[in-house]
Amino acid sequence: MANIIDGKLVSASLRDKIREDVKAFTEKSGITPTLAVILVGEDPASRVYVRNKHKACLDAGIGSIQIELPADTTEDELLSRINALNMDENVHGILVQLPLPKHINEEKIINAIDEKKDVDAFHPANVGRIMTGKYDFLPCTPAGIMSLLDYYKIDIEGKKCVVIGRSNIVGKPMALLLLERNGTVTVTHSRTKDLAAVAREADILVVAIGKPLFVTAEFVKEGAVVIDVGINRTADGKLVGDVDFASVEPKASYITPVPGGVGPMTITTLLRNTLKAAEKSTYEK
Ligand code: NAD
Repeated sequence: MANIIDGKLVSASLRDKIREDVKAFTEKSGITPTLAVILVGEDPASRVYVRNKHKACLDAGIGSIQIELPADTTEDELLSRINALNMDENVHGILVQLPLPKHINEEKIINAIDEKKDVDAFHPANVGRIMTGKYDFLPCTPAGIMSLLDYYKIDIEGKKCVVIGRSNIVGKPMALLLLERNGTVTVTHSRTKDLAAVAREADILVVAIGKPLFVTAEFVKEGAVVIDVGINRTADGKLVGDVDFASVEPKASYITPVPGGVGPMTITTLLRNTLKAAEKSTYEK
């Protein structure tokens, strides 16, 4: 029987601390850390994510500006909105909810966000800083996973870590963070040969592929720590991860459930990053 890594519990405890830190910062500086989130179009999942971010900000004492634009917003219009937020001293963090409508070049949009306000840490300058280990912001989901591992005192040093998935948002930065903590890291993907055998080597297995229940017991070594990043909705509307929890849980030493594992940690990191951006813009001018 695995220990369940309770993302809701960890997240609540970290958010309590963030709320205290925001309060202390605001009392000292007179400034309310503020996050602006831009949503383009009507994607229902994106709407839910944006609403959750808004609620979490307010709960932490962070100002939240929501900008909702129609699906036919042009790239130039979006760029000019970002530019205005870049110039606005009262906005410390900017997040453009992805995915964007097809006619907008995501890379161009990410590159337009002031790197000092890039609380998602997707801007190439911030990505480069992660590569060298000298960063201000970490991408929210991988950083949230590191917080979970730390909370449960799961040692990374010298451990075999296998990351399944190599996206810029999760897989690649996850691998770098595990490497930074002296894990021995293997990154795998859709072209990896005999993936189950590679995954079975892992002491710590992180799965971020977006394929419901893909990772079964045959991918998992007895006693491994299994982190499931996947969020997939089944035909009957149920949320499931990339890991087949029922078959993997009996083999794992620790495992994250879906929902209630990695998910809540992503917004928690976003709140921390927004406070950090406000602190840096106030004290490091
Ligand atoms: P992505 O589609 O950008 O990347 C998927 C990666 O998985 C690719 O690198 C691909 O090579 C790999 N992959 C796909 N099929 C594979 C296979 N059969 N075998 C091995 N590798 C395979 O996805 P992403 O943005 O990294 O997201 C992955 C999952 O994590 C999705 O379900 C997404 O919803 C979820 N997600 C959750 C959070 C959270 O807060 N919990 C945050 C971001 C993403």
